[in-house]
Amino acid sequence: MINSSLKQLGDLLQAKKISSVELTQTFLTRISQYNPSINAYIALDEAKTLNQAKAADARIASGNAAALTGIPIAQKDIFCAKGWQTTCGSKMLANFIAPYDAHVITQFDAAGAVNLGKTNMDEFAMGSSNETSYFGGVKNPWSFDRVPGGSSGGSAAAVAARLCAAATGTDTGGSIRQPASLCGFTGLKPTYGVVSRYGMIAFASSLDQAGPMAKSAEDCALMMNVMAGFDERDSTSLNREKEDYTRDLNKPNLDLPLKGLKVGLPKEFFADGLDVSVGKVIDSAIAEYKKLGAEIVEISLPNTGLSIPVYYVLAPAEASSNLSRYDGVRYGHRAAEYTDLMDMYNKSRAEGFGAEVKRRILIGTYVLSAGYYDAYYLKAQQIRRLIAQDFVDAFKQCDVIMGPAAPSTAFKAGEKVDDPVAMYLQDIYTISTNLAGLPGMSVPAGFAQSDDGKQLPVGLQIIGNYFDEARMLNVAHQYQQVTDWHNRMPDLDKPNLVMPEGKV
Ligand code: GLN
Repeated sequence: MINSSLKQLGDLLQAKKISSVELTQTFLTRISQYNPSINAYIALDEAKTLNQAKAADARIASGNAAALTGIPIAQKDIFCAKGWQTTCGSKMLANFIAPYDAHVITQFDAAGAVNLGKTNMDEFAMGSSNETSYFGGVKNPWSFDRVPGGSSGGSAAAVAARLCAAATGTDTGGSIRQPASLCGFTGLKPTYGVVSRYGMIAFASSLDQAGPMAKSAEDCALMMNVMAGFDERDSTSLNREKEDYTRDLNKPNLDLPLKGLKVGLPKEFFADGLDVSVGKVIDSAIAEYKKLGAEIVEISLPNTGLSIPVYYVLAPAEASSNLSRYDGVRYGHRAAEYTDLMDMYNKSRAEGFGAEVKRRILIGTYVLSAGYYDAYYLKAQQIRRLIAQDFVDAFKQCDVIMGPAAPSTAFKAGEKVDDPVAMYLQDIYTISTNLAGLPGMSVPAGFAQSDDGKQLPVGLQIIGNYFDEARMLNVAHQYQQVTDWHNRMPDLDKPNLVMPEGKV
């Protein structure tokens, strides 16, 4: 049951072959068994969770169920959920109980889904390894000495370890796709503005976007049907007609499923910096796409190399402004002892934020300050435009773009914490998509052997044009009809081994 698709679970629930309470209990039992070693969840509340499951069973009994009714979903701890501890991975919010629901949470509640718990994450979503969390690191379920990626590391580990049916994440520079690659599951960052940011704790508002983290493209499509949609409480939410993201999954084609699909391979994504073993997995995924009928086109995204420096001006600038609200007055941590108001601000912020968050606030404040604004912030905004234009030009030649989602497989915990630039480079293939506002996904494409002999997952990135999520999901789904990488799961009692085929 733990490896069933959302569709299969929905069918079992609606045929009353299982109840939501039984299904939820199955996951809660697994969580109590494995979470102490994996640390994927920050907050659990069995009573609340089981009450939602009971309500879902009643809704199913009344014949009123929706696709995800009764299905247990893990929520990244960046989403405010009424009555739940909502920390964003920070000491600053360690005791914060959200008084209202984020739009995403409201949508899952309306669908009758069950909130299994709040998942661990890098502090304020800043990180690529989940090592900046105040609540400790998260283990990669494939190899406990390695990181799950970040910042949505708790959701990633929970999906990979089958400690939930699916999860939510957010992606400001890669935080859905990079952990999806490192943990071996399917994750989608939608077009900016498709999912409301209301009640999602802000990091860099012009880049932040929530999306699904799940086993397959089909599961992601069902999650998108719940998450996407206009919300007037977010000024950047796009007022578009409601879409059915499953509509093109099986788009029929006469002989080959993806006949005529033009796949662009940016030469910059296959240059220096990509691990050879990861590159080989991506090459074999591309070969599979050719068999499905895709045509390969070589393209160029000439300004890609500037995406990391541009992001590390813009994201900290926005973060420094967003995080100014944590002043020890309105909510969040307040220092126990202080002499006057300024001292209270200083001590509360010094104690409440971790080192990476402080680094970002310092950079952000610097690039926005008088005298430096034009040289850094304005210049970065101009280059952001050029990066977006690269994609506009590329999509004149192809329908989707493919490449690696991350330059390496999961690295060892502690390996990059003291080297921020090495850590920042983890998002080299994902960040440009956020800067352009485009949708991107990571799809399990195989395993690469590490130098110490471990088999670790690799994700293929698929980037689509604005609002082309349904096509991307079709492209991923067709691949998942002829491969089974997305069904592989780690053996948590013997992490480091790939489960033999067929034993899923
Ligand atoms: N790793 C990037 C950062 O630290 C992206 C994080 C994210 O997407 N939330 O900013």
